[in-house]
Amino acid sequence: MNLIDAIRTIPDYPRPGILFRDITTLLGDPRAFRQSIDELVQPYAGLKLDKVAGIEARGFIIGGAVAHQLSAGFVPIRKKGKLPGTTVSIAYSLEYGVDEMEIHADAILSGEKVVLVDDLIATGGTATAAAQLLRNLGADVVAACFIVDLPDLGGAARLRAMDVPVHTLVEFAGH
Ligand code: AMP
Repeated sequence: MNLIDAIRTIPDYPRPGILFRDITTLLGDPRAFRQSIDELVQPYAGLKLDKVAGIEARGFIIGGAVAHQLSAGFVPIRKKGKLPGTTVSIAYSLEYGVDEMEIHADAILSGEKVVLVDDLIATGGTATAAAQLLRNLGADVVAACFIVDLPDLGGAARLRAMDVPVHTLVEFAGH
């Protein structure tokens, strides 16, 4: 099936002018969900990966399934203040202002091979900060993968400029 048909677009959410690419319809479709995970893991099937890192919150759903399929561990990257143990954090820019994301300091051992997962990459502000956070712990960020790419916003190019290979399944032109 064509995965793009399983993704719903909601105009003007969360703000006027945004076309929100809603993957909950894809997650709710058994064939589309399975196909998405199969296609996401395909490039990494032969690699010995240690961890999959998922970005809160939709990256947890997809990253958990990807980690299971690859027999890798799963590590959450969360918004500030949500993780109970000792954390390391990184600040990153949003459209208005800055935010912080965190990871448990002992979640990744230096040199471990990690794949970063989220549902969608837009400007790449979130994913590039997450990749940097993983590298700050000594991770070898071998790849990042997303169901949806908005290539006109340049996020995948920004990740590739950090030497992180990027794998995406569906593209929407524009924003
Ligand atoms: P960015 O940091 O600009 O790459 O934004 C990526 C994050 O924001 C991801 O966690 C996405 O889930 C969310 N996001 C950004 N733009 C959209 C959009 N048009 N539709 C759905 N989610 C989006």
